[in-house]
Amino acid sequence: NTSSLGFIGLGNMGGPMAMNLLSKAKGDLWVYDVNAESVDKAVKAGAKAASAPAEIAENCDRIVTMLPNSPHVMSTFGGDQGLLAAAKAGTLFLDCSTIDPAAAQTVSISSYENWVVFFMDAPVSGGVGAAAAGTLTFMVGGPAAEFEAGQSILQHMGAKIVACGEVGTGQAAKICNNMMLGISMVGVSETYNLGKRLGLDPKILASIVNAASGRCWASDTYNPVPGVIEGVPSSNGYAGGFGTTLMAKDLGLAQDAATNTQSPIPLGSLAHQIYRVMSSDPRFADKDFSSVYALLSEEKLI
Ligand code: NAD
Repeated sequence: NTSSLGFIGLGNMGGPMAMNLLSKAKGDLWVYDVNAESVDKAVKAGAKAASAPAEIAENCDRIVTMLPNSPHVMSTFGGDQGLLAAAKAGTLFLDCSTIDPAAAQTVSISSYENWVVFFMDAPVSGGVGAAAAGTLTFMVGGPAAEFEAGQSILQHMGAKIVACGEVGTGQAAKICNNMMLGISMVGVSETYNLGKRLGLDPKILASIVNAASGRCWASDTYNPVPGVIEGVPSSNGYAGGFGTTLMAKDLGLAQDAATNTQSPIPLGSLAHQIYRVMSSDPRFADKDFSSVYALLSEEKLI
């Protein structure tokens, strides 16, 4: 069967994304994960289990990967049992993992070298909720001629699919956005803490900032001060949301990319180190990244 879909990496994001493909896309869905429990869950929902990435490539010509980081993607594509060992001509790979743009380019070059196969990086924004609802945003880097083919698969899992340019530019868009977010969350947190120590009620400060030049998403949509906005992690003990460990990972990728391109990122580097410290502190490691406010305000919020 040459028109089947494959999915590798059935984790917090990949699990619900695969469920959307199962219910919305035509044809069989073959799945693989190193975690047998995740595979069983998908099989119970109607997927077919493969024993290695190579078996996915033997059975499918459109393959989505959603893995933790660059080394996992490299090992899934390479090696005797890797995707490239068995990929057929014309296969389309869509890697939705957040990885180093340089690693995406390396995998893409290996994909083209010996076979006519197409590789696109398509990292996502939107968390686990958007993955389940099928409303993710995909940032796609790859050959323009293949964009429509990629879009026809990604549309089952997302609401917005943006072509960013050559391979690696999807990852570039993703890490630039997250670096800006990581920096702005630190800035918003230290500023609200200063305001509080100057005697300002954070809600009053928010009502001013959010209509003034200091306005940003970290302040007006995801405020890190408990009680300013209902329903966000800061008002729920910093539970759920986007973890400090994931933010530290994405800023690490931004740091690597900045080093590779000799780009100065003084604030990105500083923010990276702040989240790195938090992700190795048991008080913050499993909390949302907006808990940087609790760290900076030295209040017992956690
Ligand atoms: P996760 O750790 O929950 O899932 C990763 C899955 O990959 C797991 O099921 C794991 O068993 C599997 N895996 C690991 N190595 C493997 C291998 N060699 N072969 C096969 N399977 C393997 O991670 P996640 O939260 O689903 O995130 C996946 C990617 O999406 C990451 O790059 C992350 O940065 C990115 N992302 C996550 C979020 C989020 O909110 N969680 C949001 C946007 C982007």
